[in-house]
Amino acid sequence: MTHYNFLIVGAGAAGCILARRLSELCPDASIGLVEAGPDGRVSPFIHSDLPSVFQTWSPTSNWQLRTCPQTGLKNRIVDITQGKVLGGGTSVNAMMYVHGDVSVVDEWHLRSGLNPNWSPSRYQKTFQSIESFHTNHVSPLRGNAGPLSIRETPHPSDSSRAFLNAIAERGYEIGDFNGTSQRNVGGLMQLNIDRDGNRCSTAQAFLHDPLPLNLSLELSTEVASLAMKGNCCEGVYTADGRHISADHTVLSAGAFLSPAIMMLSGIGDPDMLKDCDIKCQVPNPNVGLNLSDHMRAMVAYQSDQDPGTTDFLCEAALFTSSGYRDTPEPDIQINFSAGVDGFIPPEFLDGDAHQQTVIFVPVLARPSSRGSVSLLASTLKEGLRIDPGYLTDPVDIKTYAAAVEIVRELANTDALTPYCKKELCPGLLDVEDYLRTHAQTIWHPVGTCAMGATPDQSVVDPTFNVFGVDKLSVVDASVLPSLPSGNPQASIFAMASIAADVIQSATRS
Ligand SMILES: Cc1cc2nc3c(=O)[nH]c(=O)nc-3n(C[C@H](O)[C@H](O)[C@H](O)COP(=O)(O)OP(=O)(O)OC[C@H]3O[C@@H](n4cnc5c(N)ncnc54)[C@H](O)[C@@H]3O)c2cc1C
Repeated sequence: MTHYNFLIVGAGAAGCILARRLSELCPDASIGLVEAGPDGRVSPFIHSDLPSVFQTWSPTSNWQLRTCPQTGLKNRIVDITQGKVLGGGTSVNAMMYVHGDVSVVDEWHLRSGLNPNWSPSRYQKTFQSIESFHTNHVSPLRGNAGPLSIRETPHPSDSSRAFLNAIAERGYEIGDFNGTSQRNVGGLMQLNIDRDGNRCSTAQAFLHDPLPLNLSLELSTEVASLAMKGNCCEGVYTADGRHISADHTVLSAGAFLSPAIMMLSGIGDPDMLKDCDIKCQVPNPNVGLNLSDHMRAMVAYQSDQDPGTTDFLCEAALFTSSGYRDTPEPDIQINFSAGVDGFIPPEFLDGDAHQQTVIFVPVLARPSSRGSVSLLASTLKEGLRIDPGYLTDPVDIKTYAAAVEIVRELANTDALTPYCKKELCPGLLDVEDYLRTHAQTIWHPVGTCAMGATPDQSVVDPTFNVFGVDKLSVVDASVLPSLPSGNPQASIFAMASIAADVIQSATRS
């Protein structure tokens, strides 16, 4: 039987950072990092061009999850890509790097009972320490010596430059949305890519060769359940029946699969576990609740002049507010790029699939709708039920419709008019109807093992320990109590880096 001092399940955005940092902080400890998928430090995962990105979504490196019928989406079922590969989401994602507004970290800090691990200043310092932002604008708030290489869109298309001019024309600020303030700020998208334009996933940035001697990587190894003895976690069982034992186990399997592994191991809602014939080891009805995800819906235009070509799914973005929420952070993100062939549904293209287009993608940055991950049976394959509850909260549909109106105002500026000759979608359709029939996930699930100061609404405490379970932590997107106001990977990177310090000092004392 293999034994590790620290065993991390899932080598994704969080798992790779946690493993690397623990190996440095605890040189005498053995660290095992177990990943269900293959190596992510090879082609196509290291390339950032669009054909390579689409290739990473193939079944061999994608969990290919699906929601149950979504009442807010006219009972549509939504396919959800999730990386099953070293680097997890960061080996298959769109590489957009967004810190999110500090006021959201403030909210998490409050929820933690003002625990210093969740303070905005700690997050700010951690962002600085993990990133190397290569830019001409000097910013004292940004890091320039960390392992993660961040660059602005290297060759923006002409239409993306026009998008920036349109932002200025509408009175928004063009600047660093990862700087002092995010609300009403737009700019070229910041991407985790290196000097040569290659993807800088957490596998590339934190697990490049040579690996530290105390860190063992087990690829293509799927964990089936935790090895529970009463309320104590003693490692895991793999799908092929091995027991890997550990002094301390950390789940970093992502917002869908970390709660699923817990429930399959008897940690969860006692009634649901009973219905699935799973023995309840530790009751906690909050496991799997509070699921929140970002959505995307396209607003596309036929262009009168050559919009240029894009190398990325998003070249530039604006963060702003609908006015429907009384909170300081933006609740709308508007991504922009020149059109990509095959992206606009054919029914909106008047029979010409190759026409010149530009694409705005408004994203509901701070959704109020919540859903859940639960089990219907005692195996992952048959049992996983994902219900994100998309657009079930009325404020979300109002916010989304406001986002479409903001897009239309931008399209109507002098700068963008030549590129926005005719609105292809939603066009003449009713906006709410269009959103409910066409909105998709933008693959940012969080919140299903939410952190909190007390167990009544949470799964882990502010030091990442699972309430009521010994020797088990969770460190991944599932721990974030809500979505940051933007793409979540940067917040997950910072959280994982902080968690390494916290877990190291807790297990030492
Ligand atoms: C297509 C796509 C595009 C995205 N675009 C962006 C973007 O541009 N910007 C951004 O900020 N965010 C983006 N995201 C989201 C971002 O990648 C995720 O929020 C982030 O990766 C989540 O980190 P995590 O550590 O929680 O989980 P993941 O990164 O998903 O890692 C979980 C890991 O655990 C492994 N695992 C799961 N179950 C098991 C098991 N039973 N046994 C062993 N291993 C297991 C998985 O294979 C995976 O490698 C995107 C995501 C996707 C899928």
